[in-house]
Amino acid sequence: MTARPTAAPRAIFDTEERLALRDAVAALGRRYGGAYMMERARTGRPTDDLWAEAGRLGYLGVNLPEEYGGGGGGVADLVVVLEELSAAGCPLLLLVVTPAICGSVIARFGTEPQKHRWLPGFADGSLRMAFAITEPDAGSNSHRLATVGRRDGDDWILNGRKVFISAVDWADAVLVVGRTEDARTGKLKPALFIVPRETPGFEYRPIPMEIVSPERQFELYFDDVRLPADALVGDEDAGLLQLFAGLNPERIMASAFATGIARYALDKAVDYAKTRAVWGVPIGAHQGLAHPLAQCRIEIELARLMTQKAATLYDAGDDMAAGEAANMAKYAAGEAAVRTVDQAVQTLGGNGLTQEYGLAALLSVVRIGRVAPVSREMVLNFVAQHTLGLPRSY
Ligand SMILES: Cc1cc2nc3c(=O)[nH]c(=O)nc-3n(C[C@H](O)[C@H](O)[C@H](O)COP(=O)(O)OP(=O)(O)OC[C@H]3O[C@@H](n4cnc5c(N)ncnc54)[C@H](O)[C@@H]3O)c2cc1C
Repeated sequence: MTARPTAAPRAIFDTEERLALRDAVAALGRRYGGAYMMERARTGRPTDDLWAEAGRLGYLGVNLPEEYGGGGGGVADLVVVLEELSAAGCPLLLLVVTPAICGSVIARFGTEPQKHRWLPGFADGSLRMAFAITEPDAGSNSHRLATVGRRDGDDWILNGRKVFISAVDWADAVLVVGRTEDARTGKLKPALFIVPRETPGFEYRPIPMEIVSPERQFELYFDDVRLPADALVGDEDAGLLQLFAGLNPERIMASAFATGIARYALDKAVDYAKTRAVWGVPIGAHQGLAHPLAQCRIEIELARLMTQKAATLYDAGDDMAAGEAANMAKYAAGEAAVRTVDQAVQTLGGNGLTQEYGLAALLSVVRIGRVAPVSREMVLNFVAQHTLGLPRSY
C-alpha cells in the first residue's frame, strides 16, 4: 500500500504533463501547508506570498491562453492546481474566481483590449478579480437580479447591491453580473460588467462570517457607478452564454476545492488512526473507525472522477453536458467533504477540536460547499428537472 493514503492516484484524465503539474503544485502547497493558512485566517493577513509564488511558477494561469501569458491548458489543469493546493492544506478560494470564472469568461468572450488588460495579470498573479452575482433579494433565483446597467451616452450607469462576495478587498476589480434593457423588447437581460475596486460610487463592507478562512465575504453597493463603454464584457447580446461560460468552471473548481480539503482531512485522520492506541492497538484497527474512513476515501474518489469528467467536457466545449456534470460533481464533492472532515474530527477525538490539529476549523469551510456557489437543493432541482425530466416545483 502507498504511504500517502489519499495521494491522488494516476487518473484516466491525467496526462504525463498533468501528473508532473500535480506533483509540482503539491510540493509548493506542502511548503506553505495548513498551519500557514490557519495563521493567515486567524490573523486576517492575506495569502499574497503563496498567490504570488503560484503565479510566478505559472500555476494560476494554466487554463488561460498562451498568447496572454497563460499555460494554454484547460479547466482540467486548473482543477489539478486547486485540488493539490487544497490537499496540502492551502485551499485558495480565489482560484475558483479569478482564473476560473473571470479568466474563462474574458478569454472566451472579452474584447482584445479586455484580454490584454486582464489575462496576463491573472496568469502571473499580479491582478485579481472577484465575481459578484448573489443579491440579497434574489438569492438562488438569478432571474430576480436587480443590479441594472443603463446607457448614458457611451457610458454605463450601474446601480444595485450584492452580498457574500468573496475577497473583494484583495481584488483589483469585480466582475459584476447585472442586467441591461433590451433595446427592442424592453426586457432585462444578463450582462457582465468589470468594475474596478476604486470606482466612485462602488462601496464594499465585510460581512462577519463564522468561517475560518483568509478570504472574507463582502456586501457590495453600486450607487450610480459610472463605467466606460468597455466595462461591458464582450457582446451585449451574449450575456447568458457568457454567464454560463463562467458558472460551469466555478462549480467544477468548487468541487476541486472540496475534494482537496477532504483529502487533506482524511490524510490527517488516517495518520492519526495508525499511531494512536488506547486499547493496545491503533484505533484504526477498529472497524468503527476504519470503515467510515474507507467510505470517505471512496466518496472522495467518486467526486474527483466526476469533477474531472465535468472539466474534460467543459474543455471540449460541450457546455450543456459540462453543466450537468459540474452540478453533479459539486454536489458529490460538497457531500464528501462535509462527511470526511466530520469523520476526521471524530477520529482525532478531543484533538479533532483543537487549534493545534486544525481540523475543526475546516468544518465551516467545507460547509460552504453545500451552500455555494449553488446550493445542494438547487443542484437537486437541476437534476430532477433537466436530467430526470420531472416537473418544476417553483
Ligand atoms: C463563504 C461564501 C462565499 C461566497 N462567495 C460568493 C462570491 O464570491 N460571489 C457570489 O456571487 N456569491 C458568493 N456566495 C453566495 C452563494 O453563492 C449563495 O449564498 C448561494 O447561491 C445561496 O444563495 P442564498 O444564500 O441567497 O440562499 P437562498 O437562495 O436564500 O436559499 C436559502 C435556502 O433555501 C434553499 N432553496 C432556495 N430555493 C429553493 C428551491 N427552489 N427549492 C429548494 N430549496 C431552495 C436553498 O437551497 C438554501 O438551502 C458565497 C457564499 C458563501 C457562504
